[in-house]
Amino acid sequence: MKFFNSINRQKEKFKPIKDNLVRIYSCGPTVYNYAHIGNLRSFIFADILQRSLKFNNYQVKWVMNITDVDDKTIRDSKKQYPELKPMIALKKFTQFYEKAFWQDLEKLNVEKPDFTPQATETIDEIQKIIYQIFQNGFAYEKDRSVYFDLKKYIKKYKYGWLVKLDFSKMKVGQRIDKDEYNKENFEDFALWKGKKLGEPSWDFDFQGKILPGRPGWHIECSAMSHKYLGFPFDIHTGGIDLKFPHHENEIAQNTASFKIEKSVNFFLHNEYVLVKEKKMSKSLNNFYTLRDLEKNGFSPLDYRYLCLGSHYQNKMNFTWQALKSAKNSLDELKNFIQRWSNKDKKTITIRQNKYQELFLKAIRDNLNTPEALAVVWKMIRDQKINNQQKVKLLFKFDTVLGLGLRNIQKEKIPKKIIKLLKIRKEYRKSKNWAEADKIRKEIEKNGYLLEDTKRGDRLIKKEN
Ligand SMILES: [Zn+2]
Repeated sequence: MKFFNSINRQKEKFKPIKDNLVRIYSCGPTVYNYAHIGNLRSFIFADILQRSLKFNNYQVKWVMNITDVDDKTIRDSKKQYPELKPMIALKKFTQFYEKAFWQDLEKLNVEKPDFTPQATETIDEIQKIIYQIFQNGFAYEKDRSVYFDLKKYIKKYKYGWLVKLDFSKMKVGQRIDKDEYNKENFEDFALWKGKKLGEPSWDFDFQGKILPGRPGWHIECSAMSHKYLGFPFDIHTGGIDLKFPHHENEIAQNTASFKIEKSVNFFLHNEYVLVKEKKMSKSLNNFYTLRDLEKNGFSPLDYRYLCLGSHYQNKMNFTWQALKSAKNSLDELKNFIQRWSNKDKKTITIRQNKYQELFLKAIRDNLNTPEALAVVWKMIRDQKINNQQKVKLLFKFDTVLGLGLRNIQKEKIPKKIIKLLKIRKEYRKSKNWAEADKIRKEIEKNGYLLEDTKRGDRLIKKEN
C-alpha cells in the first residue's frame, strides 16, 4: 500500500515497523460540543484507513484519544454548570458530549478503536513525560507553569517536519499559553498550565514543588500515543489543521522526552470540508451536525457515501445538493441488494476477479475511494456478471467502504415481477419502447414503481 506521508511530503510505500501489526493513533475530538460533519470527515477517513489495512491482511491496533480537558472544555463547562465544583462540572459536561460523539461514529459505521483513552485518565503519564522533557533539558518552570524550551530544542533537533517555519521570526523568551496559535507566532508552548481561579486542577510534584494545574493540549497526545502504542509507531492521523502547532509539537515532545528523532513513521492528514468556499468551523458558525442532516431526512451513511466520493487529501464542498445525490447513489446500491440475493454458489470468475483487483488497486493507492466507488458502479453495470455475484462482490467491498450494505433487509420480490423485468429489459434492448412501457405499467399495477436511471432500472415498492 502507498500513503501520502506528510513528514516527507510524498507518497511512500507503507510497511509496518514490526511484523504484520499496524499501530495507528488518531487525534480524537475535544468534547465540548457536538462534532460537526467537518470534524467527522476526519474519523470516517481514519476508519477507511484501518478497514483498508485489515482488508489487506494487516493486523491493526487503533487508538483514538478523547480531549476532555483543555481551554474550551473548561470554559464551557463553567458556563453550563456554574453551581458545580470545577472538576465535577468538567466531568459531567464532557461525558455528555463524549457519549454523543460515540453515537455519531456508530451511526457513521466507524468501527470503535481498540483504545479510547481520556486525557483526564492519563494525568500520571502526562506528568511523567513532562518531567522527562525537563530532565533532558528541554523544559523549564515559570510562574507555576511548565514550558517547552523551543530555542534549546531547535539547536539539537529538527523542528518543522510538517510545516516550513521561519526561525528568524522567533521571539526569544516569549511564551504562549494558548493551545491553538498559528505559525507566525511560535514560541515556547505550555506543557503544564498553572491553575487559574475556578479551574479544575491536578497536583504535579515537580522536583518536590507542587504545581497545581492541568496539561496543555499537545502533551496529552504524546502521552496517550506512547502509553498505548510506544515509539516509534506506524501511522498518526488527523485533520490538516492539526499539522501545526499540534502535531509538530507532538513530534518535538516525543523526541525531547525519549531522545528519538522519529517517533511516528507516517503522518496522514485529511483536508477540510468547505461550505460556500469557506472552511466549515465552529468559529465561522457555518457548520452542520449529524443531527441537522437527520432532521433534513438524510441518513448518516449518506454523508459517509459523500465523503467516499472525495479523496481525503482534497477539500470537500458540502452542499445539500451533493448530499442528495450521494443519497440517491446509496439508495440505488441498497435497492440493487434488496432485489438480488448473494446465494450464488459459483466460484469467482476471472471477470469478477478483475473488479476485485481494480478495487484493491484503488484502495492501495493512497486510499483512492472515489476510484473505488467508480469500480463499484462499473461492476454493477457489467452485463456479463450475474446479479447475485455482484451482490457477493459488493459485500466484500463494503468491508472497506462501510456503507452497511450487509444489513440491508432482503425484500421478497414476487417471481412475476422479476419475470416482467426480464421481458422489459429485452424490449428495451431492441428499442421497442412502446412494449417496454406497457410492461412498466403492468409492474406498477402489481405494486411497484420503476425508475430508469443511468445505472439501470430501479424498483421501488409502492407505499400502501
Ligand atoms: Zn492530538
